[in-house]
Amino acid sequence: MSSDRVIIFDTTLRDGEQSPGCSMNTAEKLEIAGALVDLGVDVIEAGFPIASPGDFEAVQAIARQFGDRGPKICGLARCREEDIDRAGSALNDAKNRRIHVFLATSSIHRQYKLNMDKPEIIAKAVESVKRAKGLCDDVEFSPEDAARTELDFLSEVVEKAIAAGATTVNIPDTVGYATPSHYFHVISHLKQNVPNIAQAVISTHCHNDLGLAVANSLAAVEAGARQVECTINGLGERAGNAALEEIVMALRTRSDYYKLTTGINTKKLCGVSRLVSSITGMTVQRNKAIVGQNAFAHEAGIHQHGMLMERTTYEIMRPEDVGFTGSNLVLGKHSGRHAFRDRIEHLGQSLDDATFEKVFDDFIALCDKKKNVYDADILALVENRSTETPDRWKLAAFHTSAGSGAIPTATIELVEDGQPPVRDAAIGDGPIDAVFNALERITHIHARLQNYQVRSLTVGKEAQGEVLVEIEHNNHVFHGKAASTDIIEASARAYLKALNKAAANRDTRKPLHAQHE
Ligand code: MN
Repeated sequence: MSSDRVIIFDTTLRDGEQSPGCSMNTAEKLEIAGALVDLGVDVIEAGFPIASPGDFEAVQAIARQFGDRGPKICGLARCREEDIDRAGSALNDAKNRRIHVFLATSSIHRQYKLNMDKPEIIAKAVESVKRAKGLCDDVEFSPEDAARTELDFLSEVVEKAIAAGATTVNIPDTVGYATPSHYFHVISHLKQNVPNIAQAVISTHCHNDLGLAVANSLAAVEAGARQVECTINGLGERAGNAALEEIVMALRTRSDYYKLTTGINTKKLCGVSRLVSSITGMTVQRNKAIVGQNAFAHEAGIHQHGMLMERTTYEIMRPEDVGFTGSNLVLGKHSGRHAFRDRIEHLGQSLDDATFEKVFDDFIALCDKKKNVYDADILALVENRSTETPDRWKLAAFHTSAGSGAIPTATIELVEDGQPPVRDAAIGDGPIDAVFNALERITHIHARLQNYQVRSLTVGKEAQGEVLVEIEHNNHVFHGKAASTDIIEASARAYLKALNKAAANRDTRKPLHAQHE
């Protein structure tokens, strides 16, 4: 790979998944991995195979399905034999694979976490890189908490790891402590003081505790790093990782300055952002750079005037370059199948024929309920039909009754494949609570509601309401999302989706909080 190309290493499925409440099942991880392949990332860190049987299974499934499609599939391992072997075996079926081993090097981690001295750290790192190299040509080594490691010791560890066979050396700011000029100095120091540094790619992995993850990553790139580890929407531990979409668009928009490229198809950025947000339930703030709802909104009159004269007066990126879809009026009842298919493709969605027909029927039904159908409505229809695991129960009918002086009541009918429909009713504090209670009576799943949000997908009183729910069941968190012009129906569908996931969950994962970099 040429030196003006920055390798984009996505860790949404590993570091991103470590965000509280963002754990995903194998089907969900496969769906995101597919979107990352289409996006054009160079490396997908698919998980931490030793962490649990569920993690192992997901990494293996991704390796099998996408291991010859372009990106390297990467598995994380501590510097322990069983970790490395487990990662190697999860990745075994991938043609393009990488093992990523890490070991903390800062004095605070050496003393309190590992209880190892400097020579022991070096010996362990060297031995582990060699073991990984025996299983896989492509080996990445990370000195965890590098940003707080003494520079002379960091240089020594990096040199020995490269000599042992590491092809990428990643310099993580595990705790989000670095600042841009400090981090530039760290990477520059390695470039100048590690004799064999040219034999490996220098990588960066920054956390956002001070809001500097992207700035620090760019500083590292300026100092010579040629791989950036990042996540979609900046998902990740605590305040998150560097946001992939921000890194990529900064390099592209300021190519006059950096003179660097990536392999990312930027038109897919907003689509992947929506997918990750919908699967993890982690909503994107409205004013988030690149992918937020307001990222391209011009409100001030003087700006709007400038925009009408010449877009570049106030616009440094074109919304279409990141696949941004606002509330554009696009279709109505008479638009027809062909126009609808065009619009779906324009929105970056590819549907098989059977799914397309279902979504088209939903579109016609929606046109009967609201006059104007916007891009955001269409995307919600697609998401309703095409995501995730097949649902065990489907909502066949519902009825609610509520009002001042009345007892809120809900009646629900669910169908399950090959079974007669089941009906039940419940009361609640309000119609939505009653609906949730009735769903729990039928499914026999009793969950704790952790979060419930409704938002309007577009403008106007007739707009669809999108409901997001987060439930906890048996110490696992599940998300459901649905949209409808009737928010009680959307609530019922979203809650049922989360209950379906809880029912399908046979993941044997155990929580593992101890280590990651
Ligand atoms: Mn991390």
